[in-house]
Amino acid sequence: MKDSRTKIHSFFFSIALAGLTMAALSASWLIGRYPPPTTFSELIPTGNPSVKDASFWKTTCAGAQCFLCPFKCFLPEGTRGRCRVRINSSGRLRTLVWSHPVSVHVDPVEKKPVFHLLPGRWIYSLATVGCNLHCQFCQNWEISQSYPEAAPRETVFPAEVKIFQAPDGTLRGSLIPEKTSLLTPKQVVEAALKTRCAAIAYTYSEPTIFYEYVFETARLAKEKGLKNVMVSAGYINSRALEQLAPYIDVYKVDLKGFDEDFYRKTVGGELRFVLKTLVELKKHGVMTEIVNLLAPTLNDDMDSIRRMARWIHENLGPDVPLFFSRFTPQYRMQNIPPTPVETLEKARRIALDEGLHYVYIGNVTGHEAENTYCPTCHRVLIQRHGYAVLQNLIDKNGRCPYDKTRIPGVWS
Ligand code: SF4
Repeated sequence: MKDSRTKIHSFFFSIALAGLTMAALSASWLIGRYPPPTTFSELIPTGNPSVKDASFWKTTCAGAQCFLCPFKCFLPEGTRGRCRVRINSSGRLRTLVWSHPVSVHVDPVEKKPVFHLLPGRWIYSLATVGCNLHCQFCQNWEISQSYPEAAPRETVFPAEVKIFQAPDGTLRGSLIPEKTSLLTPKQVVEAALKTRCAAIAYTYSEPTIFYEYVFETARLAKEKGLKNVMVSAGYINSRALEQLAPYIDVYKVDLKGFDEDFYRKTVGGELRFVLKTLVELKKHGVMTEIVNLLAPTLNDDMDSIRRMARWIHENLGPDVPLFFSRFTPQYRMQNIPPTPVETLEKARRIALDEGLHYVYIGNVTGHEAENTYCPTCHRVLIQRHGYAVLQNLIDKNGRCPYDKTRIPGVWS
């Protein structure tokens, strides 16, 4: 009696299991064939030139998986990754921001901030929307935390510079803007040359997430003799970094703190992946600068600053430039006051004590820690005031003119 009851139970259990499996398979087939209207597949107009096949992904049993950054998002049909700009559309991973920057400017190199590349030169700077991290204190949250469909259709970009003679006899330049809905890598390079920039910066938001656009632009820029600068949080996977590294002259990494808990809660990522990127950049021989935005009560603990400086010294060497930048209230951290200058000076002192050679203070115009000093004779080599370079004594071989110490950087 008991045996036959067990048989009946297992029969119904098998029927139920088969039914559930059939239902799951049909649902997955139906979603694949007719994506629900809430997904973004339907929002992408056919022939949108900003939609392009992405790199670093693979097909899985019911979707696509992106391998560009450590999140490795799994994306069922019609859904997007954390960065909001990569989508599984018709079974393929696509970027939604190809050649569609939302912010394009000509900046001083010092504004990035990058201090060891062509001081005093101009750098063509651009960004699309999107970011794979979600920092609560983001300075550019209007674009980094936005969606491609929220971006204006047309972007104003500096197309060329007109040189004219001012009444006082000096030569001045005036940027001529143009509007476009698509700025291809070739056009970016042309505009950078026509505006007399020495380099192109992928900056403002997070260039990792518009990787395909960066890669193609950087490749063409190199061919034309321009330098390339990534200004990034360093949240990228090894293969993508390895492919990009040969084209990048300076990789500016925003090391937001030195505490896993802080990274998880305030940044939305993990510190260990950023440290891995820094070590890999050294392995690839890419000139790296590090910036740490120091915010009161969030990441200004001096013990963690010491651990950060020690880690940099031990793993990357003493010559990696390190910036402590002043925080000003932004985004979701309006309740935090600006960083006192004394806190920045204390952090700088610690980093110098730990043996780092080039430690700067950022966002404090006129501070003596804006200057570059020779680590041997301690004389000022590059004197700055804000974004202006008042004097640059580094010789054409990249050395201190007084004692011939080699200063790391890209100087010509
Ligand atoms: S790049 Fe975007 S889609 Fe890809 S893994 Fe990172 S967050 Fe996810």
